[in-house]
Amino acid sequence: MSRFFTERYASLVPYIPGEQPQDMQYVKLNTNESPFPPSPGVVEAAAREAGNCRLYSDPESRLVSEAFAASLGLKREQVLACNGSDETLNFAFMAFGRELAFPDISYGFYPVFAELNHIPYTEIPLRKDLSLAPEDYYGLHKMIVLANPNAPTGMALKRDEIEAIVKANPDEVVLIDEAYVDFGAESAVGLIEKYDNLLIAQTFSKFRSLAGARLGFAIGDAALIRDLNTIKYATNPYNVNRMTSAAGIAALEEDAYYRANARTIQANRRFTTDALRALGFEVPESSSNFVFARRPGLSGETLYRELKKRGVLVRHFSKPRIDDYVRVTIGTREQMDIFLRETETVIKEVLV
Ligand code: PMP
Repeated sequence: MSRFFTERYASLVPYIPGEQPQDMQYVKLNTNESPFPPSPGVVEAAAREAGNCRLYSDPESRLVSEAFAASLGLKREQVLACNGSDETLNFAFMAFGRELAFPDISYGFYPVFAELNHIPYTEIPLRKDLSLAPEDYYGLHKMIVLANPNAPTGMALKRDEIEAIVKANPDEVVLIDEAYVDFGAESAVGLIEKYDNLLIAQTFSKFRSLAGARLGFAIGDAALIRDLNTIKYATNPYNVNRMTSAAGIAALEEDAYYRANARTIQANRRFTTDALRALGFEVPESSSNFVFARRPGLSGETLYRELKKRGVLVRHFSKPRIDDYVRVTIGTREQMDIFLRETETVIKEVLV
């Protein structure tokens, strides 16, 4: 820390993103990206728009917001385009967070954004099997943040369970982070006309293969979206760049391509889950594009390290309750075959 760093952030512990090795020699299953490239129209649209970068982007992100809202049967006033869900989360914490509650095991950025914004927070333990008890979130008098499906467990709540939580906290914003919802969970989007305290974050990073473009949306009552706009215009008015907006519109037009990819991911998830269980792993049923797995007698850290040596990157979290797990992004069938083959080798070599 330099002698200039302010006391305001002196104790801030930043989020540590998954490794992004630049040499691309790994089977990369560590940051839940799509193994499939963006659709052809996306590449074309982004390239075309690059020629207009002399001009600022539209601060209202009107076209991409209209297209996204229409894809959900909503109005533009009910959505806000952001620079990925991470920005949505930060804006929402800034706008609505007095006190926060989220699960003890969830997306690691929640406590970081809480600290950044000096918002006190409570971490509510998941059950022993890592499932979430909806009743734990009734009448909390705190802003609630839940990833559905949860990360890194992959486990999902039903829409009725989300609704019960939203209903039981009418005076607080309930933020549902649906980063992985398109891989088999139930979205709460259909509830936003009914509840003015429900805010949803969706992203183009996973299902729409655009992690590197940085596009996400807040979805909610128009009044919530107006408040988020106040924060946005006080932070970064041109938060979504021209290429990304163009890419986003094209990605919405080529929906069928992404749906087909999601079906492939779901099939590969089934295959990987079954294969890991056959190798002695415990694997909760996942509704996302990753699985969370542990094997008695094999530490998560060891498996992560041994796989990395063999050219396969997975994610390990050094955190109580989950440090014996690894999180494995579901890739192509070929990638999963390599991951499973190397995992089997590690088991044989380490567990002698
Ligand atoms: N929420 C969850 C649960 C995530 O896992 C991620 C991806 N790291 C994000 C939000 C952020 O996604 P992005 O900023 O790429 O939209």
